Parts: sequence; C-alpha cells; structure tokens
Amino acid sequence: IDFGYKQVAKSEKQHLVANVFHSVAQKYDLMNDLMSFGIHRLWKRYTIDCSGVRSGMRVLDIAGGTGDLTAAFARRVGPQGEVVLADINNAMLEVGRDKLRNRGIVGNVNYVQANAEELPFADDSFDIITIAFGLRNVTDKQRALESMFRVLKPGGRLLVLEFSKPVPPLLNQAYDFYSFNVLPKMGRLVAGDADSYQYLAESIRMHPDQETLKGMMEQAGYDRVTYDNLTGGIVALHRGFKF
Ligand code: SAM
Repeated sequence: IDFGYKQVAKSEKQHLVANVFHSVAQKYDLMNDLMSFGIHRLWKRYTIDCSGVRSGMRVLDIAGGTGDLTAAFARRVGPQGEVVLADINNAMLEVGRDKLRNRGIVGNVNYVQANAEELPFADDSFDIITIAFGLRNVTDKQRALESMFRVLKPGGRLLVLEFSKPVPPLLNQAYDFYSFNVLPKMGRLVAGDADSYQYLAESIRMHPDQETLKGMMEQAGYDRVTYDNLTGGIVALHRGFKF
C-alpha cells in the first residue's frame, strides 16, 4: 500500500521547507541579492513586463514570500485593482507585509497564508497568477498547477519564474560548482545557516527542466504554453493561458 509512504514523504518535505523559510526569512532579501549578484531583480522585472498587467486587474502572487513581485504589481493595478500576496509560511509573509507597508504600499494588497496545492479562492478569480522561485518547493507540483488553473479567470495567464537547466554545458558545470560549493558557504556566513542553502542547491537540481515543466503545465490544462530562458537557462519564465 503506497499511500502510507507518500503521506510520510510529503509531510517530511513540507516540514523541511517550512523550516528552511522560517530560518532564512529575516535574511532572505539580502541573500537573494548576494547569491544572484542582484540579477534576480532583472528576472522579476522581465516577469512583470510579460504579465500583461493593467490597471484594475486582480493578481495572485503565490509563494510570494517577501513580496517583490507583489510590490511591482500593486503599483500597476492601481487603487481599483487588487494583489493577493499568498505564502504557506507566516514568517515570510510577515517580512513581506512589513516591507511593503514601510514602502507605503497599502490599500490594494491583501495577505493570505495558503498552500499552492489547495488555494482557498473561488474558481475564476484572478487575471494573473505568478509563482516566482516557489514551485520548486511545492511537494505536489502538478496539483499546484491544477489549483492555480482553477482560480485563474478564463483569458488569464500563469507565469512561473523558476530555476531551470542552464543550456550551455560549460555554464551548467560552473553553475553546479557554484550551487554546491559556494552557496552553502555563503549561507553560513551571511544567514548563519548552511543547511538551508544546501537544500536550495539540491532543490534546484531536482526541479523539472524547461520542457518537462512545459508538459506539466499543458497537462494541467494551460494553453499556448511557452518559455524564455533567462541568463542562459539558469532561470526560465514559463507562461500559459486559461481559455
Ligand atoms: N516569490 C518570492 C521571491 O521571488 O522572492 C519568494 C520565493 S522563496 C524562494 C519561496 C517561497 O515559497 C517561500 O516564501 C516559501 O514559504 C514558499 N512556499 C513553499 N512551499 C509553498 C507552498 N506549498 N505553497 C505556498 N508557498 C510555498
């Protein structure tokens, strides 16, 4: 009977992920800038540019963490629109909420603690859904893609920004070295936590590559699924529509 095994494996992973993000929440933004040499800001800007966001829209930023995408969306949807910053981890949500409030981003942002696998929203609720560097951490990715599909409005789009497989072989090797040797050391120095950044490196290696994720999105029901490789495929932005 394999459901027993699946239950154990799943709860262990959820527990591990929760620990990782509780442990790094306070240092999360600083580590992001250091680890990516600030390039994550460009990847996120590209995501916003490809989102088709307009004034008055309703946007869900799931696994939104400390709210970088939420902040950019909040400015663009304006007072008539709404952005929901959702995350499974309340420590990350709190850091995000404090950061946005300190920047004066209030009024059109709501904060919800939620699991991407079972989103607590009505069908057909959002014009745009983003999940940035989040899908990798979700236990049942297919279920999460289906849950996002359900709450997306017809005509709406999902954008998945995630680490992927570097295309040039040399970049792939250099990147592997960087993730497994440099990242955990940086994590220990800056965040006092090497294990969480070891987990990060492992989760990146395990994550489905560009074509596999595209297939998973199609299986979940998305149409016109495409992706762009960013920085040689270190990161990919996948897009899909619900028609
Ligand atoms: N989107 C933010 C960004 O790009 O900076 C945060 C990304 S952070 C690497 C990953 C986030 O995913 C964490 O805040 C974590 O709590 C959240 N997360 C992990 N598993 C999740 C799940 N099943 N449902 C919702 N959020 C989840």
